[in-house]
Amino acid sequence: MHMQYACTAATERNARCRHWVGDQRAKVFCSLHQQRKDAGEAVEIAPKPDVALYKFNLNGKWRDKLLELGIPEKDPDFGAKEAKHVAHAQQFGREAYAIRKEVADSGVPVFGKEGIQNVSLYETLQDLLAEYEVVDIHIRPRRDGTRWISVLVINFSHGGRSISNQPALDTTLEFLSSSCWGFCHVWANPPQDDGRIVHTINSSHREVDKQPELVLRLNGGLWSTEPYVEPELDY
Ligand SMILES: [Zn+2]
Repeated sequence: MHMQYACTAATERNARCRHWVGDQRAKVFCSLHQQRKDAGEAVEIAPKPDVALYKFNLNGKWRDKLLELGIPEKDPDFGAKEAKHVAHAQQFGREAYAIRKEVADSGVPVFGKEGIQNVSLYETLQDLLAEYEVVDIHIRPRRDGTRWISVLVINFSHGGRSISNQPALDTTLEFLSSSCWGFCHVWANPPQDDGRIVHTINSSHREVDKQPELVLRLNGGLWSTEPYVEPELDY
């Protein structure tokens, strides 16, 4: 299976390079960054995120369950947010609608626009919990074509106060960990005005009984995949 992977170099404005490389080995750059490196110029590695936003689409049953556990539902001003996103992308000289047609996006899809398939997120969540605090979990509506769906958003941040609703967090993480996700995307966004870097992880098509093929790892904020290995049983 062909997999796209974004060059691991940082651009001059500290965003992740938007060019593709053939594989995920560390320090394999796109031809532009490789040329610079070969010419003896310093090539910086793309920055680690300060915030990782994990998002997934909830069905009605899980929405009700998580609302019952006290996870709040927020309704941001969707139009204002999207306008800001377009302005942000333009500031970085990127075509906001180049990759996703309907919702503006200013980030780089780390694994290409197709993302990765049949993924376990168990290790991903362990990586994130080792590095960040869970400072917020909420549900919010998102437009998907002509319909609205509920999205769960988990905010993993450097610093900040961990959420106090431990039962809600435990239930959410178990739900995410114990599944095979048909599709997973990771977006590395350019720095915000305050310099902070936000990455977004999105998964969909949850399958409980399917064996995953890949494991997604944080890999110092560059993101990478490993083959899934079935856990050994202890006798
Ligand atoms: Zn590059």
